[in-house]
Amino acid sequence: MNLTKSEIKKLDKEYIVGTYNRYDLAIDHGKGARCVSVDGREYIDFTSGIGVNCLGYCDEGWVGAVITQVMKLQHCSNLFYSEPQVKAASMLVEKTGMSKVFFGNSGAEANEAAIKTARKYGTQNKGDNCNKIITLVNSFHGRTIATITATGQDNYHKYFTPFLDGFLYCPANDIDTLKSLISDDVCAIMMEMVQGEGGVLNLDEEFVQAAASICADKDILFIADEVQTGIGRTGRLFAYEHFGIKPDIVSFAKGIGGGLPIGGALFGPKTCNVLQPGDHGTTYGGNPVATAGAAYILGKMDDEFLKEVEAKGEYIREALLKCPKVKSVSGMGLMLGVAIEGKTASEAVKTALEKGLMALTAKDKIRLLPPLTITKEEIDEGVAILIEAIEC
Ligand SMILES: *Cc1c(COP(=O)(O)O)cnc(C)c1O
Repeated sequence: MNLTKSEIKKLDKEYIVGTYNRYDLAIDHGKGARCVSVDGREYIDFTSGIGVNCLGYCDEGWVGAVITQVMKLQHCSNLFYSEPQVKAASMLVEKTGMSKVFFGNSGAEANEAAIKTARKYGTQNKGDNCNKIITLVNSFHGRTIATITATGQDNYHKYFTPFLDGFLYCPANDIDTLKSLISDDVCAIMMEMVQGEGGVLNLDEEFVQAAASICADKDILFIADEVQTGIGRTGRLFAYEHFGIKPDIVSFAKGIGGGLPIGGALFGPKTCNVLQPGDHGTTYGGNPVATAGAAYILGKMDDEFLKEVEAKGEYIREALLKCPKVKSVSGMGLMLGVAIEGKTASEAVKTALEKGLMALTAKDKIRLLPPLTITKEEIDEGVAILIEAIEC
């Protein structure tokens, strides 16, 4: 009854719009950091579905929380109250000290909510022209028209003209250029603490703190795009905590759902009442099933769990740096970028897949986003395959 891999590939080519170049693997099922393809081969997963399956495949507690909710109430729209939504929101607020949450369904939508809030805040408080947002060169903020405009990479800025006005781009870690871009028309600065799609590039603490202090001085909003770095990925609940700053808006998605589509934005005291009825919304946002899963995941993210994420990241980093072909390992926690020599990152990732390890690329790096719950044995097995793939 089940389709074979070649049948799936054929139907995919025929019926699915070709927006992705897929790897040669059709996954059937998984548990923890291991999954099994439709042709019965086992793989170690260092991707978590691009940072989404933060508790691995089909974590028992998460499955239980989701199933219990889906059997009780799957959806009720945002015209009515629902318990899972307020539970997940209150956990996010209590764990961060932020003020309120807006729930959407993806990272791009999370950033749309942040961008709309920043523009309303600027134009209401500082005049009609105060609607410019500074983002960083090499950033990635999503695929909608607003968020590809926010994305500071030229290759995203083609075909879909006209793009939005009002975005300015500053090279990462360049404090002087940032200062030169500041004017009375700027309502927000938005950045990823570690640029994920851009090549797992860590921002300098000095730069992030300078940006935060400019924002505080000039009543400009600091937006942290934590869609990839958030929900424990870097060894803190959110990566901005490493930098000793407090953003005005924090967008999140990927890891929070554990596999279900959910995203959103956390708002601080300045921004939590900017959006009013009618200003923004989304039919599925804060869906009971997705938020029941999110509440379960947030409940796991205590200090001990986060310390382990950090320790596992260090363990992988040290193991990889023993390989002479590994030039450097960037990133934080379990978000790692591996620069290699002798072959390209995409060649190494393809070879690793043939040998039973799923990994990602980001620009010229191998990108690793293993499940946060990965075990030491799974790490050892995966790292051995990766090194083999880099060296062979
Ligand atoms: C993935 C990502 C997005 C977009 O999220 P989607 O859920 O794909 O819309 C936005 N920002 C960052 C930093 C991301 O990594």
